[in-house]
Amino acid sequence: MSECTHDCSNCSENCGERRDPKDFLEKPHEGTSVHKVIGVVSGKGGVGKSMVTSMLAVLASRAGYRAAVLDADITGPSIPKVFGLHDRAMGTEDGILPVVTPSGVKVMSLNLLVENETDPVVWRGPVIAGAVKQFWTDVLWGEVDYMFVDMPPGTGDVPLTVFQSLPLDGIVIVTSPQELVSMIVEKAVNMANMMNIPVLGIVENMAYFECPDCGKRHHIFGESHVEGIAAQYGIPHIAQMPIDSQLAALADSGEIENVYGEWLDDFAEKIRG
Ligand code: ADP
Repeated sequence: MSECTHDCSNCSENCGERRDPKDFLEKPHEGTSVHKVIGVVSGKGGVGKSMVTSMLAVLASRAGYRAAVLDADITGPSIPKVFGLHDRAMGTEDGILPVVTPSGVKVMSLNLLVENETDPVVWRGPVIAGAVKQFWTDVLWGEVDYMFVDMPPGTGDVPLTVFQSLPLDGIVIVTSPQELVSMIVEKAVNMANMMNIPVLGIVENMAYFECPDCGKRHHIFGESHVEGIAAQYGIPHIAQMPIDSQLAALADSGEIENVYGEWLDDFAEKIRG
């Protein structure tokens, strides 16, 4: 038997101290009740994970649900920016209050807590993971129907710890056609399997560019393989988003709530279950 690391999620030994991966879950604050927690993951940064996370929250809110975003991408926290949030989160004796967007989405992100939102976060993995845990345990989320977690990119130590500490009901994988999609999906699926968390769907972002004049679709980064990959790994739902300059402009100016593309509508409804 190899030396015990006390990380049962990575170990197949059936020893007396074995704990179910779900035993590592942290309890939320008293008064918090979150119906469903969906993590949004990607293989690397810059593929549109924050864009998809925030749009899924906007669509849930538009459908009449109480939606929230927990920004666990601590070193690249872009959720406040896409929602145009610049105020700092307030605290009470009981805990931290999420900041609420104009359409009612509750948000918590490191950028809502730091003095200067352009300061870099130069923390090591365990500190980052600790901050994410606190976003779950110390934030007064109240009643939430759907919480979307913008996960740290990749499948390393930090995302794994986040996976272990939040009660995720499912994950959504965001990829772009220029990535080694198959490898990224396999890693994400393996990580989810280790934690017994279902993969709800894949969003292929920047899948094509639609010419505004003739409507023809150009596959700038190559043809899509996402359907085959989803079938290979038994992932039930797929969506594609185009490269869209208006989408980028609205996200960059903090107006993600004014995006009305229909690319994710069906997908969002299906993954909400
Ligand atoms: P990640 O969270 O994966 O690091 P972001 O969601 O922050 O990526 O997106 C990276 C950049 O790409 C942002 O400036 C965003 O506005 C832009 N972007 C994302 N998706 C699209 C898209 N479909 N069309 C145009 N720009 C996009």
